[in-house]
Amino acid sequence: MSLALPIADPALRRRGACPTLEVPMQTGDGLLARLRVRDGRLSPAKLGDIAGLAAQHGNGLVEITARGNLQVRGLTAATTPAFAQAVRNSVEIDDGLVVETPPLAGDDRDEIADPRDLAAAIATLAVPLGARLGPKVTVVVDGLGQITRNALKADIRLTAITPDRWALAIVDATQAEVDTANAPAAVMAILQRLAALGPTARSTDLVTAGKSNPGTAAPIGRFTLRAGSATGLALPFGASDADALIALARLATRYGVPEFRLAPHHALLAMDAPEDFATGAAALGFITDAADPRLHVSACIGSAGCASGFFPARALAESLAPALPANRQLHVSGCAKGCAHPRRAEVTLVGRADGYGLVIAGTAGDTPQSVLRMDDESALAAAIRQG
Ligand code: SF4
Repeated sequence: MSLALPIADPALRRRGACPTLEVPMQTGDGLLARLRVRDGRLSPAKLGDIAGLAAQHGNGLVEITARGNLQVRGLTAATTPAFAQAVRNSVEIDDGLVVETPPLAGDDRDEIADPRDLAAAIATLAVPLGARLGPKVTVVVDGLGQITRNALKADIRLTAITPDRWALAIVDATQAEVDTANAPAAVMAILQRLAALGPTARSTDLVTAGKSNPGTAAPIGRFTLRAGSATGLALPFGASDADALIALARLATRYGVPEFRLAPHHALLAMDAPEDFATGAAALGFITDAADPRLHVSACIGSAGCASGFFPARALAESLAPALPANRQLHVSGCAKGCAHPRRAEVTLVGRADGYGLVIAGTAGDTPQSVLRMDDESALAAAIRQG
């Protein structure tokens, strides 16, 4: 199938918009496209295809976001149209309202309710609202199984209470209990209020919400399902180069894995993988152990792939991770932009012309408490231990 796609000028992106496949976002290492793969499901062959396209048209870096979307980096204005066309020819991409369910929805033996039909009904009802809703407006429908989306922000959230009843929340403020039959209309009423406020409106314009602290618990390990299993693995620092992903896709094909599912917190679930698949994935550099300290470290590519970086941030993060105290959160940023972790972190090391800025309980853009020399590895290790 060949589609004629309008490729918008990235410079014309509306303020507050999200990067998409056809309208990527300018970053320090080129244009970044975000792909909302339909249902978050990819065969190993399709995962390999996308990784190959990322190497062909971008800089080969592929990320899985905290919400479980794919991102491809290092595209250019010249390569984006062909990349977008090739992706659309390979996999189905969602372009409408973001309505998310957990990645094991429908298969999870622990879930209170299967949220998929409800999510589909909301997505269909919301189609006429189109661009009157902002691109970041997100609805989460969560059946509360083994892997939930309750650590991720949502404008509107339906959380299963019983197989037929849901708690309806705007941001994190519970509004009502609704049954399954009435839930779509209740969500639509809120979406219509948002649409009436215009495309910059978010649910925080409707209610006063406290600041939530997004969780980072990647679903690592083996999950037993109603039928079969899912093996969770994470991309170190949320990113992988195309070669490693292609190798993972080939490994999965060899092991007879029928499908990957994109999962929250930079993770992938290999469906029905044999037990030793995780060993092979670990050998390729993927995180398969929930105690891996890299799960608590965010790092951008830094100077290894970004002109703005003062040092190769992921390489430093990889070497510092083993010294990180349990559950301490570290952000290693190639420069003050802080792309990998825009929020506050317990400890942030920021690249600068004169060394690493050390920020405690702040963001990469905050004024550092001190500046450490780049060759002073013992000071670095001490900083992350004491931070
Ligand atoms: S934070 Fe990292 S990826 Fe972002 S611009 Fe700076 S060096 Fe580049």
